[in-house]
This record gives sequence, C-alpha cells and structure tokens, in this order.
Amino acid sequence: MAGLPLLTPLVRATELLPRTGTRVVVVGGGFGGAIAAKTLRLINPKIEVILIERNRSYSALPGANWTIGGSRRIGENRLTYDRLEGNHGVRLIYGEAQVVDAAAKTVVLEAGTLSYDFAIVAPGIGFRVDEIEGYAAAETPDLFPHAWTSGEEIVVLKRRIEEMKNGGLVVVSLPTPPYRCPQAAYERVSQIAYYLKQAKPRSKILVLDASKSSSDLADLFLTGWRRSYGDMIEYRSSQQVLQIDAPRSSLRTTSETLTADVVNLIPPQMAGTLAHRSGLIGEDNHWCAVDHSSYESTVAGGIYVLGDACLGDDQQKSASAANAQGKACAMHIAGAIAQRGHQPHFYSNVLYSLLDDKHGASAVTFYRSEGRKSVRVDKGGGVSSEWSELEGIYARAWLGSILAEMSS
Ligand SMILES: Cc1cc2nc3c(=O)[nH]c(=O)nc-3n(C[C@H](O)[C@H](O)[C@H](O)COP(=O)(O)OP(=O)(O)OC[C@H]3O[C@@H](n4cnc5c(N)ncnc54)[C@H](O)[C@@H]3O)c2cc1C
Repeated sequence: MAGLPLLTPLVRATELLPRTGTRVVVVGGGFGGAIAAKTLRLINPKIEVILIERNRSYSALPGANWTIGGSRRIGENRLTYDRLEGNHGVRLIYGEAQVVDAAAKTVVLEAGTLSYDFAIVAPGIGFRVDEIEGYAAAETPDLFPHAWTSGEEIVVLKRRIEEMKNGGLVVVSLPTPPYRCPQAAYERVSQIAYYLKQAKPRSKILVLDASKSSSDLADLFLTGWRRSYGDMIEYRSSQQVLQIDAPRSSLRTTSETLTADVVNLIPPQMAGTLAHRSGLIGEDNHWCAVDHSSYESTVAGGIYVLGDACLGDDQQKSASAANAQGKACAMHIAGAIAQRGHQPHFYSNVLYSLLDDKHGASAVTFYRSEGRKSVRVDKGGGVSSEWSELEGIYARAWLGSILAEMSS
C-alpha cells in the first residue's frame, strides 16, 4: 500500500518496563483489544498484560448516531481505562505503537520498546483516501466529516446538520464493502432523518451507496424509511464517489456530479496503519489475514489481530464481533501459556439499530470456528422482520452492557 512503508527501527531503544512474567502486549484499547486484555487477566492473573493505547479515553461509536436524533448525549459514550488497571491489573501505556516487530518479538514506541511473548494488535480501521480524487487527509474530514473512527467525531457532523437551512440537502456516501459496520451507516441515515423531520422537514437526504446488491438488512431500512420519513430519503445503489471538491461542497460519482449542503463522506477502508507498518496485511492488500480459530496472523506468527482490522470473512465488522474475538483470542493465548489444547469456539455477532428515538431492529448471526475458518451457523439469528419498541429497548440494554463490560 502506498505511503505506509514497513518500519524497521535501526536503533533499538531501551525496554520500557521490567518483565514480571509471561507477557502479552496488546495494542489498541477498542472493543477488541480492551476485552482481550481484561479477559486474559480474568483467566490467569499471573500473565503480565500491557495495553498500549494512543488516547487516555475512548469514545465509542455504537449509540453515537443516536446523538444526531437527540436520544443520547455523546458524553455517555466516553470511557476510561482506569478500571482495567485498578480492578484487573492491566498495565496501561498511553502512546503510539509505531510497529510490532515479529522477528524481534518487540513493540516499538517512541519512548522505547516492549518485548513480548504474545502480541495482540487491534488498531481498528484506516481510510483508502487515495481512491477519491481531491481528498486531502488533513482538511477533508472537517468539510465532509466521516464520523467513522470515534464517537466524538459525530459532534462536527451533527453541528453541520443543525446549521443547515430547512430545505437543504444532506448527502450520505457509503463506501464499497467490506467496511466498518454497514448497519451503522443505514442507522446514521435514519437518525439524520429523524432530526430533520422534526427540525427542518423540507430537507432531503440522498444516500449514495457504493454497494451493488440489496440485502435483507438494506430492505429493512428502506421499508422503515418509507414508512417513517416518506420521500425525505432517496436511496441509490452502485454509486461510488470518485472525485470531490470539498471547499465547493461538490462530488462526482460513477454517474453524476452534484452539490449538497452537508456531505457525510465515509471513505473506503482498510486495516489501521499499525497493521500495514507491521507487515500483517493479507493478499487483498487491505485487511489482516488471520487463522479464525485463534486470530493469530497467518502472515506473522506470534502476532494476533482482532476486530475490524482482520478479514471477517462474511461477517459485519462490529463491536459485537470484536468483543467475541477478544475473548476467544484471550482463551487461546491463556491456553497456550498453560500448555492446554486449543478448543474450537462458537459466538454471535449481534447488531442493533434505532430507526428513530424508540423503534429498534437487529441483525444476529452465529459463527463457529472450523479449522482456520469462521463458519456461519445456518440455524438461528437473522434480520428482524419489522421495527419495534421492544427491540429499541434491547438496543439500549445491549449498548449499556457492552460499554460496562469494557470499563469495569
Ligand atoms: C457510527 C457507528 C456506529 C456503530 N454502531 C455499532 C453497533 O451498534 N454495534 C456494533 O457491534 N458495532 C457498531 N459499530 C462498529 C464498531 O464501532 C467497531 O466495529 C468497533 O469499534 C471495532 O473495534 P476495534 O477494537 O476493532 O477498533 P476500535 O474500536 O477502532 O479501536 C481501535 C483502538 O486502537 C487504538 N490505536 C490504533 N492504532 C494505534 C497505535 N498505533 N498505537 C496505539 N493505539 C492505537 C485507537 O486509538 C483505538 O482506541 C459502529 C460503528 C460506527 C462507525
């Protein structure tokens, strides 16, 4: 991938922390990394677990869309790592991991290095902005906010929509799959519509979806949009954004050039930068290749990759999946340290969305590991057949429990 060379440090800095036992270094304190770190300590408190995270607090994305519709405050999504440290003895290092060096078994930070016995990398996503002509990584996210890497980013998008005139046009552009949580993109549109219906009812939303085919999930949203928002939302599939002029608020797609009052441009995606720098990318050039029975990289042994950064086969990249992967990976590593045999695992990927402030729906899939693959279980799960208040309650309960699990 252009612009992200493998980093091989020429000078080895000093070890940052003296070792206290078998050491697992986890990079990335999101839904995958934080749960893996906590689970390792719950299984075996003798394992030394170090979590490296660039930010002192984490602003979760699930539920962030609801702040546009007004049924949640973004502060409710903000978590700290204090309890992982205080309650579970995870050692926190706040800083940027520059590279994970599989050959030397060290993680390199600016201040020094950390040797490891096992490394877990969960850096989330990066953007393939070079696929959109005119995209300037430094300026464009301010003008055409994506709000796709942290809950806090939604504040800018929300302000743009609130400042728009009644009768304005909001364009929401969805990238080519695979990308982080497609269901959240449809939920984003729903929440913008819910706000506009109350505050600026003459406004329109144009959804430009780069996906070609429809799905049960898309159909569920399209039906809900028609019923709740009439003709406010126009949905077009197979519409990839090729070029933008953000200062002029214009964009060119595969079939037309248009201008809008607010553009929520979600660019095409790839694994986070650290995965590229550490040489963990698979044959598709964008995502990390892993053995799904353990989440160990198939490219660099001894390094495990969790969450959105790894190829999810047919799975939606989600907090729910990252959480399940974190637990399965922790069990595998703790088992390897205890020299126990490896058990296949079974897990669910549960995604809830809100259509407005009350009505929810879900998409649930079950998986089991089979050999090095993750295989979808045919029976059970599925997409809700309609929007209901009960699933709206479940959506809020699911969010409360996954955030509490990460921060307790
Ligand atoms: C608007 C929106 C709504 C969503 N809603 C839902 C939902 O309802 N349900 C659901 O299941 N999923 C949802 N998702 C998806 C979910 O947020 C992601 O799938 C999830 O965050 C992935 O977790 P992760 O651990 O892979 O990555 P992240 O959560 O992105 O965590 C990565 C962490 O790594 C850190 N990091 C990265 N590189 C480095 C480095 N070099 N050094 C140090 N630290 C580093 C980052 O700071 C970050 O804290 C939603 C997504 C969006 C965009």
